[in-house]
Amino acid sequence: MRDTLVLNASFEPLSTVTLNRAVVLVLQDKAVVEQAHPELRMRGAAVDIPAPRVIRLCQYVRVPFRRRAPWSRRGVLIRDRHRCAYCGRRATTVDHVVPRSQGGQDTWLNTVASCAQDNHRKANRTPEQAAMPLLRQPFEPTPADAMLLALGQDDIDALPEWLAQPAA
Ligand SMILES: [Zn+2]
Repeated sequence: MRDTLVLNASFEPLSTVTLNRAVVLVLQDKAVVEQAHPELRMRGAAVDIPAPRVIRLCQYVRVPFRRRAPWSRRGVLIRDRHRCAYCGRRATTVDHVVPRSQGGQDTWLNTVASCAQDNHRKANRTPEQAAMPLLRQPFEPTPADAMLLALGQDDIDALPEWLAQPAA
Protein backbone atom coordinates (compact mmCIF):
# COMPACT_ATOMS: atom_id res chain seq x y z
CA MET A 1 0.00 0.00 0.00
CA ARG A 2 1.45 3.35 -1.05
CA ASP A 3 0.63 6.33 1.09
CA THR A 4 0.48 9.91 -0.06
CA LEU A 5 1.72 12.75 2.11
CA VAL A 6 -0.82 15.53 2.66
CA LEU A 7 0.45 19.07 3.10
CA ASN A 8 -1.59 21.92 4.45
CA ALA A 9 -2.17 24.88 2.15
CA SER A 10 0.78 26.43 4.00
CA PHE A 11 3.01 23.47 2.98
CA GLU A 12 3.25 21.97 6.47
CA PRO A 13 2.96 18.17 6.52
CA LEU A 14 -0.39 17.17 7.99
CA SER A 15 -0.98 13.50 7.53
CA THR A 16 -0.81 10.64 5.11
CA VAL A 17 -3.69 9.15 3.19
CA THR A 18 -4.00 6.18 0.88
CA LEU A 19 -3.21 6.72 -2.78
CA ASN A 20 -6.86 6.24 -3.72
CA ARG A 21 -8.01 8.84 -1.22
CA ALA A 22 -5.37 11.26 -2.47
CA VAL A 23 -6.65 10.86 -6.02
CA VAL A 24 -10.22 11.51 -4.84
CA LEU A 25 -9.11 14.71 -3.10
CA VAL A 26 -7.43 15.90 -6.29
CA LEU A 27 -10.42 15.02 -8.46
CA GLN A 28 -12.70 16.87 -6.04
CA ASP A 29 -10.44 19.93 -6.33
CA LYS A 30 -9.70 19.82 -2.61
CA ALA A 31 -6.01 19.28 -3.22
CA VAL A 32 -3.38 19.73 -5.89
CA VAL A 33 -0.54 17.36 -6.75
CA GLU A 34 2.82 18.69 -5.59
CA GLN A 35 4.84 15.63 -6.46
CA ALA A 36 3.95 12.50 -8.39
CA HIS A 37 5.41 9.04 -8.77
CA PRO A 38 7.52 9.23 -11.93
CA GLU A 39 6.36 5.93 -13.43
CA LEU A 40 2.95 5.38 -11.92
CA ARG A 41 -0.37 6.63 -13.28
CA MET A 42 -3.88 6.27 -11.92
CA ARG A 43 -6.24 5.19 -14.67
CA GLY A 44 -10.00 4.92 -14.48
CA ALA A 45 -13.05 5.49 -16.61
CA ALA A 46 -12.62 9.25 -16.70
CA VAL A 47 -9.25 9.53 -15.00
CA ASP A 48 -5.67 9.40 -16.11
CA ILE A 49 -3.38 11.31 -13.78
CA PRO A 50 0.09 10.75 -12.35
CA ALA A 51 -0.13 8.91 -9.01
CA PRO A 52 0.38 11.59 -6.37
CA ARG A 53 3.19 11.14 -3.86
CA VAL A 54 2.59 14.51 -2.20
CA ILE A 55 -0.58 16.58 -2.38
CA ARG A 56 -1.37 19.99 -0.93
CA LEU A 57 -4.75 21.08 0.33
CA CYS A 58 -6.30 24.02 -1.48
CA GLN A 59 -7.78 25.38 1.72
CA TYR A 60 -5.84 25.91 4.93
CA VAL A 61 -6.92 23.58 7.72
CA ARG A 62 -6.37 24.63 11.31
CA VAL A 63 -4.85 21.76 13.22
CA PRO A 64 -4.62 21.81 16.98
CA PHE A 65 -0.94 21.31 17.76
CA ARG A 66 0.17 19.62 20.92
CA ARG A 67 3.81 19.47 21.75
CA ARG A 68 3.28 16.33 23.83
CA ALA A 69 0.67 13.97 22.59
CA PRO A 70 -1.44 12.34 25.31
CA TRP A 71 -0.98 8.58 25.47
CA SER A 72 -3.63 6.40 23.88
CA ARG A 73 -3.83 2.87 22.51
CA ARG A 74 -4.83 4.24 19.15
CA GLY A 75 -1.85 6.60 19.29
CA VAL A 76 0.57 3.74 19.94
CA LEU A 77 -0.75 1.90 16.88
CA ILE A 78 -0.37 5.04 14.76
CA ARG A 79 3.12 5.76 16.12
CA ASP A 80 4.23 2.20 15.33
CA ARG A 81 2.49 2.27 11.92
CA HIS A 82 0.44 -0.77 12.95
CA ARG A 83 3.55 -2.97 12.92
CA CYS A 84 4.08 -5.55 15.65
CA ALA A 85 7.14 -4.73 17.77
CA TYR A 86 7.94 -8.43 18.12
CA CYS A 87 7.47 -9.89 14.62
CA GLY A 88 6.88 -6.90 12.32
CA ARG A 89 3.54 -8.15 11.04
CA ARG A 90 0.31 -6.15 11.22
CA ALA A 91 -0.54 -5.15 14.78
CA THR A 92 -4.03 -4.68 16.14
CA THR A 93 -3.33 -4.63 19.88
CA VAL A 94 -1.15 -2.67 22.29
CA ASP A 95 1.30 -4.52 24.52
CA HIS A 96 2.75 -3.24 27.80
CA VAL A 97 6.51 -3.88 27.63
CA VAL A 98 6.62 -4.14 31.42
CA PRO A 99 3.24 -5.74 32.14
CA ARG A 100 0.78 -3.85 34.29
CA SER A 101 0.88 -6.77 36.72
CA GLN A 102 4.56 -5.92 37.27
CA GLY A 103 3.98 -2.19 37.67
CA GLY A 104 4.16 -1.19 34.01
CA GLN A 105 2.19 1.92 33.08
CA ASP A 106 0.24 3.39 30.19
CA THR A 107 3.08 5.49 28.79
CA TRP A 108 4.63 5.97 25.36
CA LEU A 109 7.87 4.34 26.52
CA ASN A 110 6.17 1.29 28.03
CA THR A 111 3.80 0.38 25.21
CA VAL A 112 4.24 -0.98 21.71
CA ALA A 113 1.99 -2.15 18.89
CA SER A 114 1.66 -5.92 18.87
CA CYS A 115 -0.12 -8.57 16.85
CA ALA A 116 -2.75 -10.43 18.88
CA GLN A 117 -0.75 -13.65 18.71
CA ASP A 118 2.45 -12.18 20.19
CA ASN A 119 0.49 -10.20 22.77
CA HIS A 120 -1.12 -13.44 23.91
CA ARG A 121 2.18 -15.35 23.83
CA LYS A 122 4.07 -12.72 25.83
CA ALA A 123 1.28 -12.55 28.42
CA ASN A 124 2.28 -11.08 31.79
CA ARG A 125 6.03 -11.17 31.17
CA THR A 126 8.70 -8.67 30.19
CA PRO A 127 10.43 -9.17 26.80
CA GLU A 128 13.41 -10.66 28.66
CA GLN A 129 11.25 -13.06 30.65
CA ALA A 130 9.40 -14.12 27.52
CA ALA A 131 12.58 -14.23 25.38
CA MET A 132 10.81 -11.97 22.88
CA PRO A 133 13.20 -9.11 22.05
CA LEU A 134 11.74 -5.85 20.76
CA LEU A 135 12.52 -5.15 17.09
CA ARG A 136 12.63 -1.46 18.02
CA GLN A 137 12.41 0.59 21.19
CA PRO A 138 9.25 2.54 21.98
CA PHE A 139 9.66 6.31 21.81
CA GLU A 140 7.85 9.56 22.57
CA PRO A 141 6.05 10.74 19.44
CA THR A 142 7.90 13.47 17.57
CA PRO A 143 6.14 16.83 17.07
CA ALA A 144 5.25 15.70 13.54
CA ASP A 145 3.78 12.48 14.94
CA ALA A 146 1.97 14.48 17.59
CA MET A 147 0.29 16.41 14.81
CA LEU A 148 -0.69 13.18 13.14
CA LEU A 149 -2.01 11.83 16.42
CA ALA A 150 -3.98 15.00 16.98
CA LEU A 151 -5.69 14.35 13.66
CA GLY A 152 -6.87 11.00 14.89
CA GLN A 153 -7.94 12.00 18.37
CA ASP A 154 -10.19 14.29 20.37
CA ASP A 155 -10.28 17.01 17.78
CA ILE A 156 -11.36 14.67 15.04
CA ASP A 157 -14.79 16.32 14.96
CA ALA A 158 -13.21 19.65 14.16
CA LEU A 159 -11.71 18.34 10.95
CA PRO A 160 -13.29 17.55 7.61
CA GLU A 161 -14.17 13.87 7.47
CA TRP A 162 -11.91 13.18 4.50
CA LEU A 163 -8.90 14.45 6.43
CA ALA A 164 -9.78 12.92 9.77
CA GLN A 165 -9.48 9.38 8.48
CA PRO A 166 -5.90 8.25 9.05
CA ALA A 167 -4.23 6.06 6.46
CA ALA A 168 -4.82 2.39 7.04
ZN1 LIG B 1 3.73 -10.15 16.28
